[in-house]
Amino acid sequence: MIELRTPAEIEQMEPAGRFVASVLTATAAAAKVGVNLLSLDKLAHDMIRAAGAESCYIDYHPSFGASPFGKVICTSVNDAVLHGLPHDYALRDGDLLTLDFAASVNGWVSDSALSIVVGTPRDEDLKLIDTTTRALAAGIAAAQAGNKIGDISAAIAAVGHGDGYTINTDFGGHGVGRTMHGDPHIPNDGRAGRGLPLRPGLVIAIEPWFLHTTNRIVTDADGWTLRSADGSRGAHMEHTIAITEDGPLILTKRD
Ligand code: MG
Repeated sequence: MIELRTPAEIEQMEPAGRFVASVLTATAAAAKVGVNLLSLDKLAHDMIRAAGAESCYIDYHPSFGASPFGKVICTSVNDAVLHGLPHDYALRDGDLLTLDFAASVNGWVSDSALSIVVGTPRDEDLKLIDTTTRALAAGIAAAQAGNKIGDISAAIAAVGHGDGYTINTDFGGHGVGRTMHGDPHIPNDGRAGRGLPLRPGLVIAIEPWFLHTTNRIVTDADGWTLRSADGSRGAHMEHTIAITEDGPLILTKRD
């Protein structure tokens, strides 16, 4: 079911967006060479407690998950790109790290992700992050009342394909509201002018992710972490946005 939010409800969603942005900013800043993924999860957990927020992940147990997630942030390293389950791993120089975080504040959810390089970057990883960042910006720019879902998908895909990446459409954007995942699904590739019309009040997460040399993923032995099928690295950028009469409003914008 597609739910539209009133301007007053969108205003009520802003604290969740700001909180999610603040956790990503803090965990990204803390992600240095030698820092353990479990301590990034602890930092996010401490911030949740201090803010009186609620984790969307800790009890998350969808059909594809082996058991409840049990952590509050996704940490995907190198060939892991989505749903990375934090584990006992100290970050190494040159690691490509994706942090994906969602939380509820006052009953409203926001969801956002970013990829960074820890320590000394490889050029190819910076390029992948840059493409993913521009794909997110293009997707958001297409999230205008009067457009269709397919316009967002096509805008993301044009950037990804333009830089030579292939695209997986199994996991993509989604509606956000009282819960983390709702309708509509927003694939990262699609045809412009097709699909659900975008109306003011629609709140969605837009989340392009690309892998260097494949669009196929496999599930790790931990039952959660999704890795590239060929071992190549991935990047992922996500914002929760509200479609308004005045254009897209990025709820999870970082300073
Ligand atoms: Mg997310």
